[in-house]
Amino acid sequence: MNKKKQVAAIKGTKDIFPQEARKWQFVESVAKGVFELYGYREIRTPIFEATELFEKGTGETSDIVIKEMYTFKDKGGRSLTLRPEYTPSVVRSIIENRLYLQSQPLRFYYIGPMFRYDKPQKGRYRQFHQMDIEVFGEKDAAVDAEIVEMADCLLRELKVFETETLINSVGCKKCRPSYLKELRSRAEKESERLCADCKRKITTNPLRIFDCKVETCREISSKFPQITGYLCQDCEEHFSQFRSYLEFYKIAYKIEPRLVRGIDYYTKTTFEVISSKLGAQDAILGGGRYDDMMKEFGGPDICGIGFAVGMERLISLIRFPEERENFLFLVYLGDEAKKEGIGLAWYLRREGVECLMEYKERSLKSQISRANKLGARWVLIVGEDEVKKGKYQLKNMETGLQKEVSQEEILKIIQEAM
Ligand SMILES: [Zn+2]
Ligand SMILES: [Zn+2]
Repeated sequence: MNKKKQVAAIKGTKDIFPQEARKWQFVESVAKGVFELYGYREIRTPIFEATELFEKGTGETSDIVIKEMYTFKDKGGRSLTLRPEYTPSVVRSIIENRLYLQSQPLRFYYIGPMFRYDKPQKGRYRQFHQMDIEVFGEKDAAVDAEIVEMADCLLRELKVFETETLINSVGCKKCRPSYLKELRSRAEKESERLCADCKRKITTNPLRIFDCKVETCREISSKFPQITGYLCQDCEEHFSQFRSYLEFYKIAYKIEPRLVRGIDYYTKTTFEVISSKLGAQDAILGGGRYDDMMKEFGGPDICGIGFAVGMERLISLIRFPEERENFLFLVYLGDEAKKEGIGLAWYLRREGVECLMEYKERSLKSQISRANKLGARWVLIVGEDEVKKGKYQLKNMETGLQKEVSQEEILKIIQEAM
């Protein structure tokens, strides 16, 4: 026997089956609603870009660039990378298409897959999904607070509670160098006790020592000087305004000096929303300001700020009610009823009623049990008698109530129940 070899999904990827996909659709539609409410509009950019875009974007010292990019050569010999994050693509698009000539600020949101060649582990995928929002051309700290409030609104809409908002300021080009100098000299003094990774970070990017998960490194870095003590007047004022707007919105926050985030381009505000239910990888969403990024990409001097939500983590926190789906399963008996049923289904769909009908010959009983298995809220029974009368049996599968109805009445009852 010639047994064909099966092809399996790539390690670190996952299929999303219909029941799960419903949850994704729900979360995406709630998120779109919230983002649009605040004036954001959707932008879609390609999934792959020139590799150098992301090397530029994340800074050459970021771990993402060093270890985790999904990079390959295409048939033309170009080095391409599946995007590991979203912001560099948007910045590229704004510059290339001169979107900055439109009146600012620009507000975008995006939902889609990202790729990192990470070690696959529980809850972490090589293809993962994010929802991102970005604002370009708004310096005012009011917008920093507005996006934190929008994130809060999104979580409340999705009934995700028990979260904590962490904020920090990582300074700017003016004030960060003197802090980094101080931090570097302190880290050098402790270098013997730091892990190999952190030792390397002393020269490449000492801020990232704060991200290390190794217990001794955490203990050592907890005594390091904090950036908030080194902010210039501009950063200090911005941070204080940001906090006062958060207070105005009644958003409880905690200043977390370790919150420097993994990516080099942040300036001033950084923030994260965490949930104790997520364990060690506890951030649901995170973001910050990147005022120099556009310029560093060869564009005009336009500031930016944004955040990204991890879809997989977010969905794991939402409790979805076990509900029957709001569709009608049409069952029939005999050839006449089949024809009548096809016509009815056609009519109902055009009136906006989700309607399913299957064509395999089965008993009424087995068709109804099929409807039940699929979770249909309604069953419409069309038999020979019903065809003669022009009236059908409509059964509500939740309540078990059954009623004789005409074509128009079906519509009325279902629409009222929606
Ligand atoms: Zn500064
Ligand atoms: Zn370490």
